[in-house]
Amino acid sequence: MEKLFALLDDGYEEMVAIRRHLHQYPEISFEEVETPAYIAAFHRALGHEVREQVGGRGVVATLRGAKTGQTVALRADFDALAIQEENDVPYKSLIDGKMHACGHDGHTATLLGLAKALNAMKDDLVGNVVFIHQHAEEVAPGGAKPMIEDGCLDGVDVIFGTHLWAPTPLGDILVREGAIMAAADKAEILIQGKGGHGAEPHHSIDAVVLASQFVINAQQLVARRIDPLKSAVLTIGHFEAINPFNVIAERVALTGTVRTFEEQVRTQMEQELEAVLKATCLAFGASYEYRYTRGYPPVYNHANETQFVAQLAAEIPGVENVITCPPFMIGEDFAYYLEQVPGTFFFTGAKKPEWQTAYPHHHARFDFDERAMLIAAKTLGKATLQYLQENE
Ligand SMILES: [Zn+2]
Ligand SMILES: [Zn+2]
Repeated sequence: MEKLFALLDDGYEEMVAIRRHLHQYPEISFEEVETPAYIAAFHRALGHEVREQVGGRGVVATLRGAKTGQTVALRADFDALAIQEENDVPYKSLIDGKMHACGHDGHTATLLGLAKALNAMKDDLVGNVVFIHQHAEEVAPGGAKPMIEDGCLDGVDVIFGTHLWAPTPLGDILVREGAIMAAADKAEILIQGKGGHGAEPHHSIDAVVLASQFVINAQQLVARRIDPLKSAVLTIGHFEAINPFNVIAERVALTGTVRTFEEQVRTQMEQELEAVLKATCLAFGASYEYRYTRGYPPVYNHANETQFVAQLAAEIPGVENVITCPPFMIGEDFAYYLEQVPGTFFFTGAKKPEWQTAYPHHHARFDFDERAMLIAAKTLGKATLQYLQENE
């Protein structure tokens, strides 16, 4: 491992330069053009087999070792967000209204830096490494599913991935067996009442009152219907009735998100949300429309691979703590890879020591400690080499 670590240390400056370049030219989900071209050119220069437009805009590069063996896949996403950057840094986004505010620029730089280091060791490599550069993580249906359908996991024995995590101190690695991130679904609702004069409720069906009841009643699902030892979140973030103040609303549109970790709880939320809606509307003669869209499934880490990474991470230079974290209610389409092959997804702490608190991911002032990329590359790189050695 000393050789790998030395190669990565030597390549760190280039990794930072790549990250800053990508940061200046962010491209949002499903609109990535220059970023995948940049990634493909980088791998081609190393002599890797490269496939472009995998499942849409993804790039898959393969490094074949000198000796045959198993195949490890490593994944980095590369999409940005529709956010106007408010950081005053030399590498600030040059594209108006777009920003790498989740650290996917860092993921890509980490994987490219690691690809270069592993390439320099290919004569010792027993097996293959597949670099999965994924487009469109931020917006469902995401890039992972179509990339898998387009064969990015063909011949892959195991997959590893990480997210640089700014709220967590540099030097911490967060791991968890089983569900580490939630299923993220969307519920769209329309309540159809009967509009009328604000002074004559008895001639109308007030959609605002019904929608308000529905929002409150639906919270009882989490409080009273879901097993208290399981988890669910229901957030209605959008509630719209555009009306003059003295008119009873004819209709109200609601949109919310449902987060769960287990299939049974997910199905229960999907079905009972409609039951509450139906009952609330029925009582007052209103009608409704209901559309529940399943987003990413929960990210479910496999036990052996998680223990494997937890153990080896503890010996990575710069890693101070390997922590078993509670699950996060955010979603990630890395879930789809783990439905197909064993593997694990972990978080790499990326908060600068001098920061009291970091701006959260998806914030206009988000940033991370770039040294986390080196820790992530060493952890993923060590996992790759050790896995290939142990499964020769
Ligand atoms: Zn994000
Ligand atoms: Zn992200």
